[in-house]
Amino acid sequence: WEKLVRVMRMPRERTYIMVKPDGVQRGLVGEIIKRFEQRGFKLVAMKMKAASPELLQQHYADLSSKPFFPGLIAYVGSGPVVCMVWEGTDVVKTGRKMLGETKPLESNPGTIRGDYCIDVGRNIIHGSDSVDSANKEINLWFTPEEICEWRSMEEPWVYEKA
Ligand code: UDP
Ligand code: MG
Repeated sequence: WEKLVRVMRMPRERTYIMVKPDGVQRGLVGEIIKRFEQRGFKLVAMKMKAASPELLQQHYADLSSKPFFPGLIAYVGSGPVVCMVWEGTDVVKTGRKMLGETKPLESNPGTIRGDYCIDVGRNIIHGSDSVDSANKEINLWFTPEEICEWRSMEEPWVYEKA
């Protein structure tokens, strides 16, 4: 019975995390991956991509009426980004906590933005803000074949009920 439950269980929650072009240029990709890995989250998809304006307009569609929208599209399209899907219990909300606030100067030290950036228009990383947007963003940036289901041998050491 326990085995059946394990087999049938849905994957844990997933979030879309993206290192923006400034994070890539500044050599922060490894540091960002390290933080999610060491927290115990599981990487299930990753790629580098030069995003088109169309893709970025879709990704940031909710912000299309904002005055900073054209600048935002130019910024995130100014170089390659590193796209990732991370999996784990409560990873959407926890990922946002790890990122810090949208404005880096309002982010606590110890968060990614609080440790590595200053300007809101150069805040090095994106993270989904809800489970619903995470699912939309994962579908926008990745095909199902690009998502890798794998069993981490760390799982029973990270989760009490693995
Ligand atoms: N942004 C900006 N000026 C602002 C607010 C946001 O340039 O006044 C940029 C910033 O790069 C931010 C992105 O737009 O990360 C998306 O905004 P959102 O409010 O979704 O912030 P996030 O979810 O990234 O914290
Ligand atoms: Mg957002």
